[in-house]
Amino acid sequence: RIRRADRLCRKASKLDGWLDGAAPTGQMKANVFKGAVMVYRRYFEAAVSRLKDERRYRVFVHLERDVETFPHARWHRENGAVEDVTVWCSNDYLGMGQHPEVISAMVETAASVGAGAGGTRNISGTSHAIVELERELADLHGKEAALVFTSGWISNLAAISTIADLLPNCVILSDASNHNSMIEGVKRSRAEKKIFRHNDLAHLEELLIEAGDRPKLIVFESLYSMNGNMAPVAEIAALAERYGAMTYIDEVHAVGMYGARGGGISERDGVSDRVDIIEGTLAKAFGAMGGYITGGRAVVDAIRSLAPGFIFTTSVAPVIAAGATAAIRHLKQSPFERHRHQEQVRKVRGELDRLGIPNTPNPSHIVPVVVGDARKCKWLSDILLDRHGIYIQPINYPTVPRGGERLRIMPSPVHSDADIAHLVRALNDL
Ligand code: PLP
Repeated sequence: RIRRADRLCRKASKLDGWLDGAAPTGQMKANVFKGAVMVYRRYFEAAVSRLKDERRYRVFVHLERDVETFPHARWHRENGAVEDVTVWCSNDYLGMGQHPEVISAMVETAASVGAGAGGTRNISGTSHAIVELERELADLHGKEAALVFTSGWISNLAAISTIADLLPNCVILSDASNHNSMIEGVKRSRAEKKIFRHNDLAHLEELLIEAGDRPKLIVFESLYSMNGNMAPVAEIAALAERYGAMTYIDEVHAVGMYGARGGGISERDGVSDRVDIIEGTLAKAFGAMGGYITGGRAVVDAIRSLAPGFIFTTSVAPVIAAGATAAIRHLKQSPFERHRHQEQVRKVRGELDRLGIPNTPNPSHIVPVVVGDARKCKWLSDILLDRHGIYIQPINYPTVPRGGERLRIMPSPVHSDADIAHLVRALNDL
């Protein structure tokens, strides 16, 4: 069929003239176009087969969580069998996606105002639930205003690109380990970019000096989720103050989990007021979905008014907003989940260390076990799932550099001591 498609395409290029002019039969044309479409398909097949050769082809694990027993879930095997597994790689870091206050807020909101958002905020009106959520977020980070987006990914893309476009002749200074969504935001802006070595203050300062008196925007994360290390937020803020730069921090992996009220590393370190924009997600520790930025009224208003990624898409549904608000309110006044989280992380690390299973030391809740080989990493993950009922997604290139392939273990407050013992026994066997 492919050879035939090639032949048809060659014929098509020779027949350009008749395709444009007084055409022969419709059937002839239809055959030619069908052939072309079959050739297009080869490009997609080739792209996927390259990924397979490089062991980068992603296979989704078909899971059904159970609200009563999370982090346990039902795993639907390809052969139709269903088995219980323990999830060790969920970004529902604190189990808030199963929390009764969050679930009842969502159920009540759906029952009272309906399911969807009904459109963009500009056209269909802003739901009361989003107004409340934005108030809650601005308060969480001690900022004048907040703006909710449909995801953390979109919030970074929309906010970074808009800020950099509005600052004339802006130069963006971006940490080398920044997340893809920040890189896309930098790319989408028309500003010049300079990459500073990961968490390297001296290099950042060098670039700030080099940029002279141009407007400067420093973009970085507070907690880097692949290796679990943290940014020196206060020191970066101090450099920004010294050289007149604006600061944009991604706290996606820290909000809800660090700081006395869950305001992230910037709250924990007492520097929220020294960072201009704090960005976060509602999809991880807050257990819902969506992203946001918080900052000064003027900059948030400009992004609200100009960013296409905010303007031209249906807003987060009120149901989601209500669930996120319930989670944020709960975590603002309940340190229990944060303490228990850290306790379970310590136990996992302690057990791995006791058995000599290498895990990258870092000050966060993320426990990376570096395997250093894509094939072995996938193989370990497959055996953990297949034989031990443990789900840990292999993290391969391009999410981490080649050679840095790893299992990324995410202990949570809802993992029991028995879950930890089971995990460590299985890893030790392997
Ligand atoms: N920023 C960072 C650092 C992330 O790791 C992620 C996703 O994991 C995002 C942003 C995107 O957030 P969301 O999943 O809400 O789109």
